[in-house]
Amino acid sequence: MSHNSIHWFRKGLRLHDNPALLAALKDCRHIYPLFLLDPWYSNNTHIGINRWRFLIEALKDLDSSLKKLDSRLFVISGSPTEVLPKLFEKWKITRLTFEVDTEPYSQSRDEEVMKLAKEHGVEVIPKISHTLYNIDRIIEENNGKTPMTYVRLQSVVKAIGSPKKPVPAPTKEDMKGVSTPFSEDHEEEFGIPTLEDLGLDTSSLGPDLFPGGEQEALRRLDEHMERRAWVCKFEKPQTSPNSLIPSTTVLSPYVRFGCLSARTFWWRLTDVYRGNKHSEPPVSLHGQLLWREFFYTTAVGIPNFNRMEGNPHCVQVDWDNNPEHLAAWREGRTGFPFIDAIMTQLRQEGWIHHLARHAVACFLTRGDLWISWEQGQKVFEELLLDADWSLNAGNWQWLSASAFFHQYFRVYSPIAFGKKTDKYGDYIKKYLPVLKKFPPEYIYEPWKAPRSVQERAGCIVGKDYPRPIVDHEVVHKKNIQRMKAAYAKRSPEDKDEKTITKGVKRKATSILEMFEKKAKR
Ligand code: FAD
Repeated sequence: MSHNSIHWFRKGLRLHDNPALLAALKDCRHIYPLFLLDPWYSNNTHIGINRWRFLIEALKDLDSSLKKLDSRLFVISGSPTEVLPKLFEKWKITRLTFEVDTEPYSQSRDEEVMKLAKEHGVEVIPKISHTLYNIDRIIEENNGKTPMTYVRLQSVVKAIGSPKKPVPAPTKEDMKGVSTPFSEDHEEEFGIPTLEDLGLDTSSLGPDLFPGGEQEALRRLDEHMERRAWVCKFEKPQTSPNSLIPSTTVLSPYVRFGCLSARTFWWRLTDVYRGNKHSEPPVSLHGQLLWREFFYTTAVGIPNFNRMEGNPHCVQVDWDNNPEHLAAWREGRTGFPFIDAIMTQLRQEGWIHHLARHAVACFLTRGDLWISWEQGQKVFEELLLDADWSLNAGNWQWLSASAFFHQYFRVYSPIAFGKKTDKYGDYIKKYLPVLKKFPPEYIYEPWKAPRSVQERAGCIVGKDYPRPIVDHEVVHKKNIQRMKAAYAKRSPEDKDEKTITKGVKRKATSILEMFEKKAKR
């Protein structure tokens, strides 16, 4: 049978390592590559303008790669449950393919779509390619329990074996006998909207340092992989949160949108490591991809993963509600230059280093402001180019010592931490030019500078730059005690990791099986 297939791009905005796209092309007559700007996008307060730009660039890149295969991308606004059934009819679709997405929102969306596809006699082929492994297989291999530590995850994936090798991008050969029926006015009907078309305010767009798209992702990957010694020596804790040029790969936005396949990244690293002495997980680059896998797995296994309430693994904390402090943190006006510079970089550029994320997340939560990690998660979700439901929630729980990491008495100093890697405060001067004339001894604590120094620097603290909103020395000690009290309230079961994680032992139905079962019903 010759199929009319829709390949539905959601994440996975790429042609390489896209098994669902290859499945769509098998025994296919007409292929319709589709991207839906669904209500998740149009309720867009949670997506900042820089991330919108990244997405639009990624779609343009995808369309240009499809053009090289004599195909095109169809972009349509609307909810999948409304749009897809109409397309099934209009295009006489017999097969729908997509990449499996493990987030709760996507899972329920896909369940609905599966039902509708069945009603229309459309075969559905979902394929796993966003993560290194099938996440359900990891849980199954761990006796049906979610691995709650990185070490546990490592031993489970070791037992499973190496991640699957990425599949090649479709070629003209794969497209033989397959066509995309698009018309002269494709651009008007199905073209990629501009930011202006979407009614977005572009006045706060920052510099386009990390343009979206698969071609850019692969180019950046090549560039990094050429630095063989750097790759082999890479140890995350040795990288710097405040270097002027990023000290890690900044491939995260590309992996997040699937412009770069995590498996391609993994196997390219394997090639570089081969025959060379190299660093190991958790600090190596392979180790970073396993952190990603770890948080994806816990996000699937733990209910209410992005919330404190109803999340059985999260310490319940009586966080304060302080909109003024939250706004000061978000807008980079806490009066702590290191924190404010990081938040400025985040707002302007959409990416900050992992340890910079540590510093500002600790400051917002258990370190200084005692504001819920859920609030920080929301701000990151809006401003990060790489904002990812599972990774954002998992890392926020870690940093706020709410889950996974329990050494709440180890608090980052908003003054001393940045000095370790940037004694003269060049990073602060870049992002907070108002402080650029401060001498190094005061750049991290301008409020301590004598009035004459402030005058010479052309910046009076309290007038041109805010005074610190809290006294770190006082609040962090008080907060450690509050954290201690929250930990003391945990039930004995909560304190025992093994017990918390003990779920009903299950043979996890794989995500694919789940889809198959539903399709048969
Ligand atoms: P590299 O060090 O070059 O690592 C390579 C890849 O490994 C990254 O691209 C990323 O895909 C993965 N990775 C690295 N570190 C982690 C980690 N700790 N957890 C999971 N995956 C990791 N990362 C996101 O991609 N999206 C988020 O929404 C996100 N939110 C975070 C929130 C907080 C509070 C913290 C502390 C960290 C968060 N991270 C998030 C994790 C991490 O900071 C970024 O993945 C990393 O800084 C991206 O930069 P890079 O690509 O240069 O990383």
